[in-house]
Amino acid sequence: MTDPSPSRRLHGSAAAPGVAVGRAYVVERRRVSVTRRHLEPPEVEPEVLRLRGAIGAARAQLQNIQKKLAPEASEHSLILDAHLLMLDDVLLVEQTERAIREEFINAEWALRRTVERIKELFDQADDDYFRERRSDVDFVGERVLRHLAGSPTEIARPRDLHGPIVLVAHELSPADTAALGRSEVIAFVTDVGSATSHTAIMARALSLPAVVGAGDATRTIANGDLLVVDGLRGVVTVQPTDFEAATATDRGERYIAFARQLRSNRDRPARTGDGVPIHLRANIELPAEAAVAIDHGAEGIGLYRTEFLYIDRREPPTEDEQYETFSRIVRTMAPKPVTLRTFDLGGDKFTTALRLPREMNPALGLRAVRLALREREVFRAQLRAMLRAASHGAVRIMIPMVTTVGELREARSELEIARQELHFRGVEVPEVPLGIMVETPAAVFVAEHLAAECAFFSVGTNDLMQYALAIDRGNEHVAHLARSLDPAILRALSAVIGAGRRAKIPVALCGAMAAELMALPVLLGLGFHELSVEPTAVPEIKEALGRLSYRDCEALVDRLWGLTTAAEVEDAVHQSVGALFSDLLAAGGATPVTETGTFLLPDL
Ligand code: PEP
Ligand code: MG
Repeated sequence: MTDPSPSRRLHGSAAAPGVAVGRAYVVERRRVSVTRRHLEPPEVEPEVLRLRGAIGAARAQLQNIQKKLAPEASEHSLILDAHLLMLDDVLLVEQTERAIREEFINAEWALRRTVERIKELFDQADDDYFRERRSDVDFVGERVLRHLAGSPTEIARPRDLHGPIVLVAHELSPADTAALGRSEVIAFVTDVGSATSHTAIMARALSLPAVVGAGDATRTIANGDLLVVDGLRGVVTVQPTDFEAATATDRGERYIAFARQLRSNRDRPARTGDGVPIHLRANIELPAEAAVAIDHGAEGIGLYRTEFLYIDRREPPTEDEQYETFSRIVRTMAPKPVTLRTFDLGGDKFTTALRLPREMNPALGLRAVRLALREREVFRAQLRAMLRAASHGAVRIMIPMVTTVGELREARSELEIARQELHFRGVEVPEVPLGIMVETPAAVFVAEHLAAECAFFSVGTNDLMQYALAIDRGNEHVAHLARSLDPAILRALSAVIGAGRRAKIPVALCGAMAAELMALPVLLGLGFHELSVEPTAVPEIKEALGRLSYRDCEALVDRLWGLTTAAEVEDAVHQSVGALFSDLLAAGGATPVTETGTFLLPDL
């Protein structure tokens, strides 16, 4: 039954959940070859007109793709908008026209040169935001060049490739992806990119399994190769054996059936098996995800990462623009609460419309509240927008990366100034609870003092683990050391819960740990009553909560204090609840499992 040639595995980032099996279509987006030609003076103006014609045609083509986008992919309209804007970009268009007029060179040559120069500018900036822009300008430039060359077609599948296809590309523009048509593409694989790259966002919005950052996928995969794309684990199997393909198909089907079945619990309240209610909320990054959160049964938004409003643009969003966005989310969720986190920019987050210095160690640099307290005008504009949005529902404001009580006080005084500014404008706003993210060891140590001066805590374990265990959260070489059940982390969480209890303020947890099935009994046992997870993880966590007894979780945690290593804690938890969750673990849902993963998955 087995295939004679051994299968190969490529590892990347799990960018969108699900498992798909299909034939590879390797997109060889070869660059348009450009003929270089000097012009005679009478040829110059017709050449400028030819360039403008090609730009117009590229614009029409993009608008057409935009029209065809499915409603659930509407977020990507914004990315296409960015490409459309680039077609009007002064740097791109005027410099190309100037080169034609002043240097007497043909449109293709002038355009390619301008694109290369813009890319060099972006290269010098050397950060993620500009790298994304660098590829955007390339995509747009190549699109216009294809029109100039008279071959404007989008990626087209080879004639001999039938059935559903897996798109394999070095990097994809969202426009390319959309143009392929949703029915034919069943999964994506890209050489580069991270789970936050545009292609990954697009895959998630279209509910297509995707693995990104898979290294040299385009070099080692041939057109027509059979692929298994495991978007749950970030693995691509090339030329799988019959057994591997059949197992993967089965696993993919089970994942879909399971996800569907779990969603049927959306209208049930989240509570443990012995009846303890848990506030189960959603983390969102895009405004459209509020509706997804509702659809998956979230009881409010526990974390809105507002920094995503600051990417893909040159200027920070205005107060009014932010007010519109925040109030839309708040109205969608009302009467459920929405926690708006002030921008957490810097560190490993996208750099932005704000000018950030180049830092040797950005994770320990000008990030989040530190940046906000340097850019006070921008911070206050955001706070005003948040306060205004609070008129439409239950809003909480949360400050990220607080390390000292002084920072909390300064943030509060900025909030008061923002309120005064609105008052002078004749705008009265309601009182809004001000809370903080607890995500630095310093905040854990002084949690007692912080709790005395704020309305709530939300623990950010992604950063707390990074800073407490000294593990860069973006570094794949040490990722396996980041174990959420490390005794050091349990002690930190316990200290925060204790401080919150004594000050009688709620303590939530919104890091990825809240969606780890095997961490769930520990979090309950420690005393967390409020969790916030990705919208699509809500049904699974709700189901898991219902299978746990709060009392048993408390007893479990009592037994953990004597254990000295993460492995011992993991074993103890696994013994206690592993069997209870075996079907959920097998589905591979929202539990991040790496190859070096802590917990063994049951055989599929
Ligand atoms: C965290 O650090 O756990 C968190 C939720 O914030 P972010 O992932 O946005 O840094
Ligand atoms: Mg954080």
